[in-house]
Amino acid sequence: MSKKEKLDQLNAIMSCCNNCALRKGCSKVVPGDGNPEAEIMFIGEAPGKKEDELGIPFVGAAGKFLDEMLASINLKRENIYIANVVKCRPPENRDPLPEEVETCWPWLEKQIEIIDPKLIITLGRHSLGRFFPLMKISEVHGKAFRRNFPVIGNRVFYALYHPAAALYNGSMRETLIKDFGRIPKVLEKIKTS
Ligand code: URA
Repeated sequence: MSKKEKLDQLNAIMSCCNNCALRKGCSKVVPGDGNPEAEIMFIGEAPGKKEDELGIPFVGAAGKFLDEMLASINLKRENIYIANVVKCRPPENRDPLPEEVETCWPWLEKQIEIIDPKLIITLGRHSLGRFFPLMKISEVHGKAFRRNFPVIGNRVFYALYHPAAALYNGSMRETLIKDFGRIPKVLEKIKTS
C-alpha cells in the first residue's frame, strides 16, 4: 500500500472516532491535510471553528498566515503535511485537556509512522508539550533537536510559535517569520548529515 492509501485508510477510521467527549461537541473530525510523501510535517494544536466546518486543518486566519509563511520559503500545502495533536474542536476553542491530548495521541502517532517525515515542526506550546513536556517554547523556538520516541522512533523536531498566537503580536510575529525562514536550512542539514 502507498503512504496515501495507508493515510486515507487511517483518516477514514479516525473520522469515526468517539474515544473522547470532544466528538459530541464538534461537527467534523479534522484528520490532516497535505502530501503523504512530505518531508516536513507540521503539528498544530486543535481545529478551530472554520476547520471544524470544513474538516481541514488551518483554514482560518492562522492558516492564511501559515500559507503566507510557506510561500515565503517556496512551499505550498501540497508539499507538506499538517495535522493537529487533537483532531476535534474543543468547545469555544478552549485549550485541549491533557486527557484529550492523550486519547488522541495514537492517531497522531500512526500519522507520523506512515508519513515518516524528515522533520517535525511543532506549532505552539501544546504541540511542543506533547513531545517535550518540560520545554518552554520561549526558550526552544527556532531550535532543532533530535529525540527518540517509542513507536515513532528517532525524529528531528523544530519548534515554532503558533501562527494564531503570533498573528496579532508584533514581536512574536517577527520571531516566527524569522524562525520559519530557517526551515529550508534545517531540512538541508538533516538531509546532508
Ligand atoms: N489552530 C490549530 O492549532 N490548528 C488548526 O487546525 C487551526 C488553528
